[in-house]
Amino acid sequence: MSSVSVPSADRTVRDQTGSRAGETGVSGGRRVNEALKTFDVAIVGGGMVGASLALALSGTGLAVLLIEGVAPDSDAQPSFDDRTTALGNASRRILQSIGAWDAIAPYAAAIRTIHVSDAGRFGFARLRAEEQGVEAFGYVAANRVIGRALWSKLRDAPGIEIRVPVRTERVELAPDLARLDLVHGDGTPERVSARLVVAADGAHSAVRAAAGIGARVEDYGQVAVVANVAADRPHDGTAFERFTSSGPLAVLPLHDGSYTVVWALTPQRAAEMLALDAASFLRELQGRFGWRAGRFVRMGRRASYPLKLTRAEHTVAQRAVLIGNAAQALHPVAGQGFNLGLRDAAMLAEILVDAREDVGAAEPLARFAEWRQTDRRGVISFTDGLVKLFGDTRPGMSFVRNLGLLLFDLTPPAKSALARVSLGFGGPSPRLARGLSLR
Ligand SMILES: Cc1cc2nc3c(=O)[nH]c(=O)nc-3n(C[C@H](O)[C@H](O)[C@H](O)COP(=O)(O)OP(=O)(O)OC[C@H]3O[C@@H](n4cnc5c(N)ncnc54)[C@H](O)[C@@H]3O)c2cc1C
Repeated sequence: MSSVSVPSADRTVRDQTGSRAGETGVSGGRRVNEALKTFDVAIVGGGMVGASLALALSGTGLAVLLIEGVAPDSDAQPSFDDRTTALGNASRRILQSIGAWDAIAPYAAAIRTIHVSDAGRFGFARLRAEEQGVEAFGYVAANRVIGRALWSKLRDAPGIEIRVPVRTERVELAPDLARLDLVHGDGTPERVSARLVVAADGAHSAVRAAAGIGARVEDYGQVAVVANVAADRPHDGTAFERFTSSGPLAVLPLHDGSYTVVWALTPQRAAEMLALDAASFLRELQGRFGWRAGRFVRMGRRASYPLKLTRAEHTVAQRAVLIGNAAQALHPVAGQGFNLGLRDAAMLAEILVDAREDVGAAEPLARFAEWRQTDRRGVISFTDGLVKLFGDTRPGMSFVRNLGLLLFDLTPPAKSALARVSLGFGGPSPRLARGLSLR
């Protein structure tokens, strides 16, 4: 497959010999061993977060290179796969601001009620969007839909050059410039340089390692089993979070009236569940979840994801910045990973557009690290705390949890505080999340 190359329309990209990008070495739409070109920003990883950042930077005057190893419509695409994502209201606004929401909205289900319960116990909490003065807590959309929306916009986005399927093999971060060695799908090498490299290459980020940034990894000893299931009655926009003895189980509404299930299980239990035929799987699910959503009658493909908390020790280094899963990869229990990563992207875009001289200089990067700190820490500890609180099997703990859920259900300020989760955990709010333009 050949790479896609979209020449910059806003700001001319110049190589180090001074010639314009696109003038030299272009062969059949692909650049072959041409002289080193310098971009303002090179984004490694065009998954959910990297593609969003590229779109946010489009038309701002910055010359951006987006490098993605796997074609966005490929079955092997690790970001735009069979999963679905619960998007908070801040994320909806960011996607709206970057022009991707209109293509997502027809395929997104609104979450109007959140129901949290502890299996086999008395306590539960119910949050209703209308009580919190919002239309919905968020929206659930398939990752493939989000991928299509982002990439169809990117294909002719001004200021963005795209390399896909192209892998970043090596990154060298020097005080003045970053240099990247790329390898195209057919093995052709390419070298580029940029003032700033953005690591949007996921939890196992090679760019993070190249930047010398360590990461702390905590294995939760759980595997998420994900499947879409249909019940014998359509949903009413309720998202269920049920804490079971084997791990948290989320049942989220989908736009076609069915549900998506994200079930965290021990690795052994996950393997057993994956091996079951559909009818047995649905029976097990029904037994754990109960009948709140009706009878589960059909299911689609199953997929599984080992669950870990990966936390980069820093989010910036010389000429490099980490966003999305490269900075922090979370347990999906609270559906916060992409929402947090999208706020990383929105804030980074704003800081880069505002940077006067050099987007890769120490000052804008330090500002990014500082401005994202509160939100990042808040979401990480909220999510990790939830996994640990509901995974705590010590005597008396389930009573405490259930009392907590009951009190929570009766306490409006606590409910409002949780409802604000969908807006971010504090720190400066990105302009894009407030519906403001960067251009
Ligand atoms: C089961 C499950 C359910 C989830 N549900 C939710 C939810 O409801 N809400 C929510 O907010 N979050 C959710 N998340 C989290 C969310 O999926 C992630 O936070 C999000 O995918 C992170 O996106 P990313 O772009 O940072 O990284 P990734 O999705 O990992 O994408 C990284 C991209 O970089 C590319 N890449 C990697 N290395 C290279 C290289 N060397 N060169 C070129 N390209 C490269 C990859 O091909 C990939 O496309 C869930 C996660 C799981 C596991």
